[in-house]
Amino acid sequence: MNDCLFCKIISGEIPSKKIYEDDLTYAFADIAPQAPVHILVIPKKHVTGWSAVMGESDELLAHLMRTAAIVAKQEGLEETGYRIVSNCGPDARQTVPHFHLHILGGKELSEKMA
Ligand code: AMP
Ligand code: ZN
Repeated sequence: MNDCLFCKIISGEIPSKKIYEDDLTYAFADIAPQAPVHILVIPKKHVTGWSAVMGESDELLAHLMRTAAIVAKQEGLEETGYRIVSNCGPDARQTVPHFHLHILGGKELSEKMA
């Protein structure tokens, strides 16, 4: 998708701070961090969001989850813990229509989920 912000990040057209990369996924620092550690994990393939995962392979979806766990461990969050957030659609305030998992950690997070 040519006009997708995260597709442009994957292609390198828009710079990002790379945290991790493999064949299927890319992880980079969020530009407006909401915690001391705030990383986004995305599929390299353009998938718009949760509403589109029905059409995606189990391999890709499981791989995304595994990548989040690998990145959290790599960034030293495994013992202290972390939160995975993924927003879908307007009520959740999804602003970028390319599927992404937020990894938040590095401090004790709010007890509130919403
Ligand atoms: P969401 O609101 O769940 O769609 O999350 C989109 C996230 O992308 C937000 O946390 C933004 O801060 C982040 N973001 C937007 N533009 C960039 C960028 N150029 N580089 C890194 N993160 C970005
Ligand atoms: Zn995209």
